[in-house]
Amino acid sequence: MNHIELSTLRTELDEVNKELLALINKRGELVQRIGKIKSDQGMKKYDPVRERHMLDLVSSENEGPFETSTLHHLFKEIFKAGLELQEVNHKKELLVSRKQRPEDTVISIKGQEIGNGNPILIAGPCAVESYEQTALVADAVTKNGIKLLRGGAFKPRTSPYDFQGLGLEGLQILKRVADEYNCAVISEIVHPQDLEMACEYLDIIQIGARNMQNYELLKAAGRLNKPVLLKRGLAATLDEFINSAEYIMSQGNGQIILCERGIRTYERATRNTLDITAVPILKQETHLPVFVDVTHSTGRKDLLLPAAKAAFAIGADGVMAEVHPDPAVALSDAAQQMNIEEFQEFVEELVSSRFLKLNQMV
Ligand code: PEP
Ligand code: MN
Repeated sequence: MNHIELSTLRTELDEVNKELLALINKRGELVQRIGKIKSDQGMKKYDPVRERHMLDLVSSENEGPFETSTLHHLFKEIFKAGLELQEVNHKKELLVSRKQRPEDTVISIKGQEIGNGNPILIAGPCAVESYEQTALVADAVTKNGIKLLRGGAFKPRTSPYDFQGLGLEGLQILKRVADEYNCAVISEIVHPQDLEMACEYLDIIQIGARNMQNYELLKAAGRLNKPVLLKRGLAATLDEFINSAEYIMSQGNGQIILCERGIRTYERATRNTLDITAVPILKQETHLPVFVDVTHSTGRKDLLLPAAKAAFAIGADGVMAEVHPDPAVALSDAAQQMNIEEFQEFVEELVSSRFLKLNQMV
């Protein structure tokens, strides 16, 4: 008799478990729907007032045999699981994420494709100092079939007494050189108000490491119809870097190039520490082209070539390097800019070791 009763009760228990299961999942679905509404309205998921109300309801409705404190414990676990469910299902997938767009973003500038699988170079002086200086570098750069010339016009310098760049005059020089040498030009802009004006002179807007988290600048760059090269901040994690790119893309501009330029560590042998694995991580996590700036990451001429090879070997879409006709008298970064002869050797070595494709060169 007892045996039959036990088995009946167990069957009944199984039924109750099934009902509990169905109810818990039903609750989960409701929580997901609430989570979606909250996420659309930008509301916080966790609401302590609401949780208190639900626990009070458990207290007032409890008829036993469980103690209210035991039930509170059980319900709190259920609430917690619901909150986790909301996070998983409504964690916004970033626009720059590879999950959002599996194909690579390819940017085309004056016939030069960036991110199409053929690695390229961006080269030029640290700062635009004069028309003659910029033209000399443009000549050396374009002779090698390189289409992208860099040059700083607004220089963010550690000391306010150091050369700050030629400003608008620098942009005008870049534009003139771009027209004369049939190349595209890139330069850093530091102020949101200068962006529109700069678009008349530049083919790519650079946002520098020091401004990677200048969110107003990022948003303003996101409203442009112009490619943006975004440098990683001096002490930025890759997650922060990716979110900065998201700031640009969230405003509609998806033409973004990410540039790893070394991060601040305790190591003093190099100016910064080149985080080389940032390249494949950024390529996996985002669909954007990824560059490596070998000049500012190493700060050492003897490391430019090995760093560039490493960058290409690990999958970078391009390398940025600084070239000056006479680095010894350069107004900024004198120590690590290559002269024209050194640059020539740098390019030839990258071509002969097959890191740069021959068809990129004339
Ligand atoms: C630059 O490229 O001119 C520059 C200043 O680099 P970063 O912002 O990476 O320091
Ligand atoms: Mn420099």
